[in-house]
Amino acid sequence: MSSHAEVEVFLSRKHGHLIDGAWLTAGERIEVVNPATGKSIASVAAGTAEDVDKAVRAARRAFEDASWSACSPSQRGRWLWTIADLIESHAEELAELEYLDNGKSRSVILKGDIPAAADVFRYFAGWATKIYGQTLAVSRPGTLHAYTVKEPVGVAGLITPWNFPLLMAVWKLAPALAAGCTCVLKPAEETPLTALRLAELVHEAGVPAGVVNVVTGYGHVVGAALAAHPGVDKVAFTGSTEVGKLILQAAAGNLKKLSLELGGKSPTIIFPDAKLPAAKQAAAMGIFFNAGQVCAAGSRLFVHRAVFDEVVDSVIASARAIRVAPGDDPQGQMGPLISAKHLQRVQGYVASGREEGARVAVGGQRLQREGYFFQPTVLLDTRREMRVTAEEIFGPVLVCGQFEDLDEVAREANDSIYGLSASVWTQDLNIAHTLARKLQAGSIRINTGGGLDPNLPFGGYKQSGWGREFGEEGLALYLQTKSVLIGA
Ligand code: NAD
Ligand code: MN
Repeated sequence: MSSHAEVEVFLSRKHGHLIDGAWLTAGERIEVVNPATGKSIASVAAGTAEDVDKAVRAARRAFEDASWSACSPSQRGRWLWTIADLIESHAEELAELEYLDNGKSRSVILKGDIPAAADVFRYFAGWATKIYGQTLAVSRPGTLHAYTVKEPVGVAGLITPWNFPLLMAVWKLAPALAAGCTCVLKPAEETPLTALRLAELVHEAGVPAGVVNVVTGYGHVVGAALAAHPGVDKVAFTGSTEVGKLILQAAAGNLKKLSLELGGKSPTIIFPDAKLPAAKQAAAMGIFFNAGQVCAAGSRLFVHRAVFDEVVDSVIASARAIRVAPGDDPQGQMGPLISAKHLQRVQGYVASGREEGARVAVGGQRLQREGYFFQPTVLLDTRREMRVTAEEIFGPVLVCGQFEDLDEVAREANDSIYGLSASVWTQDLNIAHTLARKLQAGSIRINTGGGLDPNLPFGGYKQSGWGREFGEEGLALYLQTKSVLIGA
């Protein structure tokens, strides 16, 4: 079958929840909308607390099953590697589903999201056989022998957002399986399709039934039930800081372990000695990539006054030149926002900026066509008290400020409840090192527009989250340490 035919078949299916390796399709439905048209392309099941309960029980049974605990790390690694292969051999199909569901560019998905998803599985495939404890010196040498072992946390609830639907599911599934956890995945209600397809590929790779379960549905129903369920040992969440706090409260009942990857309002800081062509381009990409729907988007631009006009004029020119178009347009550079609700939210922010005295230098309007397209937007004359400067907009909207010296810009960049990421552009080593130290953010990028690596921990300072995904720390989110003491 061509990938197009496969996609047609997949879209027309009556999707259900994947529980214990079987589809459960009863109950209410949620329409899956293509944000480039506003039209429904499929429907998925609107899960309930009972569905979550079934899925959690299935994950628990799978976790406690003797065959799962006896499963060798090498076997888990092989499954992860096979899933990566399957993602690659289904690249066209997954990209088609992702672009129809999320709106982003199909070619960007093929060049970016899909290879990154396969890489993350391969990276954690390697970790499955490299989980280790330590032998520790204790205060009575010769009489006591002490060591630690790492054990899987148990049943993990994985709650993911709509901005990188496939990748966010992969970021959580891969380390969870490498560690030996079993899972219940709840994708965002706006973009459930690739998570459902990925779960099928996970089974096709040979992962036993019940190890990965998927329940689709609304956040306040399915997400909330998962966060509160006493049979869930850990929740890994990516989304808004607001919902992160709700999950924290819901998790209190059984004191679940939590990892939270939340919002950001990340600064891009440009000094006059920087390689300006690259810096200007990165400043524009940092906010307009994925229509600004990126947790680490560079949504606050700080430019030294000596080059402020030059840099900001260039970003404005980029904003004007960007071709905003559906994800199947080969020349398209920016897709729609995810939903009518989110478009309204972004429009509301721009309106609030105008009311508070900001000047819209470019953009500021939705496109007069079907779908939820919004223009790349640059706001000038913003002040720190404005909502557009303080709050995460999660759209293609940039605020700009100028600075004179390093301490001033460090202070202003840190003046945020968030601390996910920060970019600095300078050729001066002293400035680079000083800012790397002073900036309160989980990721500091110097003279590079970004890029993530599975071996590089990623996560937030302050209200941008708890814990680090990727790297050994990312694996550790799904493990717990047992200390063993043996007498002579
Ligand atoms: P959200 O936080 O509501 O959604 C993220 C996930 O959490 C979804 O799967 C959702 O169903 C689930 N969820 C919602 N309410 C829940 C609850 N009470 N308990 C458990 N799970 C729940 O995000 P959103 O409403 O789609 O977007 C709102 C804002 O969040 C955006 O404008 C943006 O600022 C931010 N956001 C950040 C990221 C990120 O990558 N950090 C991703 C998406 C959205
Ligand atoms: Mn959708």
